[in-house]
Amino acid sequence: MPNRLRFAPSPTGELHLGNARTAIFNWLYVKKYAGSLIVRIEDTDEERSQRRFERLIYDDLKWLGLDWQEGPDVGGPLGPYRQSDRIEIYLKHAQALLNQGLAYRCFCSEQELGQRAERARQLGLTWKYPGTCHALSAREVEKRLTSGHPSVIRLKVRPGMILFRDLVHGDMRFSCEVLGDPILIRSSGLPTYNYAVVVDDALMEITHVIRGDDHLSNTPRQVLIYEALGFSIPAFAHLSTILDPDRTRLSKRHGASSILYFREQGVLPQALLNHLTLLGWSPRAGQGEILTRHELIESFDLDRVSKSQAIFDVTKLNFFNRHYLQKSDRSRIIEIAITYLQREGLLGPVNPKMQDWVGLVVEAFLPGIDRMSEISSKARALWSFDGEAAVREEGVRKVLCIPGATKVVGELNNQLSVSGRDVIYEWPLIVQAIKTRSGLRGKKLFHPIRVALTGRDSGPELDKLVSLFERGSKLDFPQKIKSCEARVSEFFRAMKVQELNPDYENS
Ligand code: GLU
Repeated sequence: MPNRLRFAPSPTGELHLGNARTAIFNWLYVKKYAGSLIVRIEDTDEERSQRRFERLIYDDLKWLGLDWQEGPDVGGPLGPYRQSDRIEIYLKHAQALLNQGLAYRCFCSEQELGQRAERARQLGLTWKYPGTCHALSAREVEKRLTSGHPSVIRLKVRPGMILFRDLVHGDMRFSCEVLGDPILIRSSGLPTYNYAVVVDDALMEITHVIRGDDHLSNTPRQVLIYEALGFSIPAFAHLSTILDPDRTRLSKRHGASSILYFREQGVLPQALLNHLTLLGWSPRAGQGEILTRHELIESFDLDRVSKSQAIFDVTKLNFFNRHYLQKSDRSRIIEIAITYLQREGLLGPVNPKMQDWVGLVVEAFLPGIDRMSEISSKARALWSFDGEAAVREEGVRKVLCIPGATKVVGELNNQLSVSGRDVIYEWPLIVQAIKTRSGLRGKKLFHPIRVALTGRDSGPELDKLVSLFERGSKLDFPQKIKSCEARVSEFFRAMKVQELNPDYENS
């Protein structure tokens, strides 16, 4: 039988990391063993389901580099693939179960059952639907239906045990005694999750159900529904819950948990794919953690999927992202950088000269960046240099208090104000001259130079920055970049004014 796996999201929000991990494991299995991946949209919750979320899910899956062979967007032979388009199918099979006496109509009101469940809970008893309506005669059912009494369709649970094998959790056994007769069709005519999922998985000829272990407790009911409908039961693999490092369930409360959030942050798809695959699955010993798409496919298997909970660690994700940022095709990273810089209004339309310049920005700033979105804040100092504001900065003031620091700035100012200097070319000579005249070296030399040039006390290597300022000042940006000379003389003036201020003297 060909492998047929499915990813079945409910389009009620952005694609969550946990669901993305489920999609990835299904996809890896299909890629490794050949077969088809089916995307099925479970949109029977009319109030919460939205088409825009469905589109967002496709976008996120594609961004991660996943592909599928059947689904609402691509069609396929066993569709429709959106549950809201399959209502007739669910009703038809429920009717067949009614005809065979395997299911029955139940007229108990939700409110009445809710009250009984609550009373049982207060008495510390477990409650299950007692099967009241199972005993109704066919005539009684007919009478109530004709009088417009709302009803649901329930499966009659058989006695005995339910056994199934989970590829992650092993052999599972449940007693039917504890299960109340599950609802298949609600009074609204819509199917319940447990029922629709079984009808769909069976009719779509799914061979493996890989999903989150929050559905492990639903599986016994689903097995009973398969049996009643006479369908063969697929293999199950339930993936462990993903936790935050504080061991609570990953949720929005703990910050970002959607793929979209990380996309917007400038996390690369390879980094997220790599990290999510390692949540609950581990490569062979000695394989290392950084694995290409091809290596992930090649080494993936369900037998190394773990039952224990997986931790989503942002620091780890940053580690992967830094790796892939460095490894990626530079022109792609430059394009991403341009998008972020444009978003912040630092760049307008980009000509080839600017593109080359952004290449230098990327080269200078990339080593200090976890996620591409940081490029705008890190590189902002290229544009927004305000000598007065810089001199008031705590870190900058500390540097200026180093004995001899103001002399270094003054000397730098002198060196740069010699007209006609090619600063990029002569930078090593300029530094050498300041060193000789100030008698300072190492940090004592370079920190004052950095603050005078950037207004900041940390950042990329100075010679790279110098080249960025000089070249940038010649480009036509919306917000003009100052040359080294302009920056340093502004800083020097501000510093002198501040020096006269007793506040500065005492700091
Ligand atoms: N729509 C369900 C969910 O998003 C799918 C569960 C399943 O895979 O059976 O949790």
